[in-house]
Amino acid sequence: MDTSRGSKVLGSIDLESPAKISPSSHRITKLSRPKLSQNKTIKYFQSISKRRLTQTKPLTKGSYLPYDKRELVKRINTLKYNNWNVNSKKLTPLLIARYGWEGSNKMNELKCCCCSARLLIKIPDELMNNDNEDNEVIFDKLCDKYIDELKAGHKDNCPWLKQVTPMNVYEINNSKELGVVKELYEFNSKQIKNDDIEVVDVLTQDQVGVIRRWCEQNGLVYGNIFQCSLFGWRIEKIGSKIMLKSESCGRRVFIEDNVQVNLIEEHHEWCCYVEGYKNLIKMMGNVENNSDENTVENTLQRLDKLRKLYFE
Ligand SMILES: [Zn+2]
Ligand SMILES: [Zn+2]
Repeated sequence: MDTSRGSKVLGSIDLESPAKISPSSHRITKLSRPKLSQNKTIKYFQSISKRRLTQTKPLTKGSYLPYDKRELVKRINTLKYNNWNVNSKKLTPLLIARYGWEGSNKMNELKCCCCSARLLIKIPDELMNNDNEDNEVIFDKLCDKYIDELKAGHKDNCPWLKQVTPMNVYEINNSKELGVVKELYEFNSKQIKNDDIEVVDVLTQDQVGVIRRWCEQNGLVYGNIFQCSLFGWRIEKIGSKIMLKSESCGRRVFIEDNVQVNLIEEHHEWCCYVEGYKNLIKMMGNVENNSDENTVENTLQRLDKLRKLYFE
């Protein structure tokens, strides 16, 4: 029900100064202040405006921004080794975060960022180390059950029940992501030298050609540091150790001396960079053709969803 429309109607009637109502209209002037407050319609809207205030109160705790990638990634990063140890291909931190949940300070307990609902994922130890096929089947079914709860486990007035974060918000499909590569490169090139890290060759010659040209146009130096940045890794030095960190999937990797690192395989399987780097290279080869048309189309789609969410 659209309660906001109701409060607007109420707001347009000036209860304090009945003198402003034209004296020529007897019908209106007869409606004195006490009578107005007894009016059924006004009473109705007054009651729902009060109800609305009390209902929205718990939601102010969290932010409901289903189309915001940064918020999604923040929720993903709340699930760490010390509060999440479910190793499922289905029940992933990405899925959990897309449905509005994040990690809590209790092992395998999720909480909604808006309605504060909590969901404890209980999986018996013998199923966690799924070394036999029967166990794997049961583990999968249990995860499916919890995925249903991710969808339905919010409180009644929680907006996540209506619209979750669509997958394309997470995917790398927007030319703004080239800016992220540049930022990562700026940061990473201050941490180490190209020779400090060895990487497995995962790019084709054609891809390397496109990347080199783009780097030249943008005044960047193609090398191992650039590759780390292209694959979404932030490089940090911890003492004498080098650590790679993916903010998109939360993976952390310590680099061992003389060991080549595979910049794709080190991500979680569901990380947006596993496939997304190919889109980045396409965008590098085709920056001019990355017309505004797609962006306008995306925006219209989002507006349409918001319209349905709030006005239908
Ligand atoms: Zn919720
Ligand atoms: Zn990742």
